[in-house]
Amino acid sequence: MEMYLPRILDRIKGPVALAFSYQAEDVVALQLALHCGAESLEVFTLDTLKLFPETPGYHETVEAFFQVPIKRYYPDPEAVQDLEKKLGEWGMRGSLEDRHYCCHVRKVAPLSQALQGKSAWITGLRAAQSVTRSGLQILEYDEQHQLMKINPLVSWSEADLTAYIQRHGLPLHPRYAAGFKSIGCAPCTRAVKEGEDIRAGRWWWENPEHKECGLHVRNN
Ligand code: SF4
Repeated sequence: MEMYLPRILDRIKGPVALAFSYQAEDVVALQLALHCGAESLEVFTLDTLKLFPETPGYHETVEAFFQVPIKRYYPDPEAVQDLEKKLGEWGMRGSLEDRHYCCHVRKVAPLSQALQGKSAWITGLRAAQSVTRSGLQILEYDEQHQLMKINPLVSWSEADLTAYIQRHGLPLHPRYAAGFKSIGCAPCTRAVKEGEDIRAGRWWWENPEHKECGLHVRNN
């Protein structure tokens, strides 16, 4: 599947962005994109102000490893103030609606800003990650943001991912060594137990079909 990426990027006219959210998948997607000469690539992350304490250090590690800057997009300060007034520190766990409100302010709105003026964005999504991602395609039209979305890892298994990371000596977020299988905001991400699903540590109090933050709305 990696061989399709250069062909897809060749067909995209205009600026391309890569969403880096500190996942193992993102570090692989970044390596693939840089290796196929995506020179005008903007690598960005959404700093929700709720990240793990180790995340800024890992951010710097990745920038140094690939010799590329990772641009941070932040939530609107007034919207965060309102959010915190309404929900307090842990209120995002109160209901699905409250969690979506927090994700909207801290992730969804900053993502729209990050994608402004871009022709396409690259993600590290894999279809096998969860029920919410099962119908994913390598190339999709993102109606919500009105641009192409490229998912080069769509058909990768977890074993493919691990083998690629080891083969290329790619740096991983330190939480992976502590039993985490996915990296997100500190209040909404925990380590997973042996045999648990890889997304089980995200919003663990919710049903699997709800485990998305609104960044990856499917058209169908
Ligand atoms: S993952 Fe949790 S803390 Fe992060 S934006 Fe969503 S609800 Fe808020």
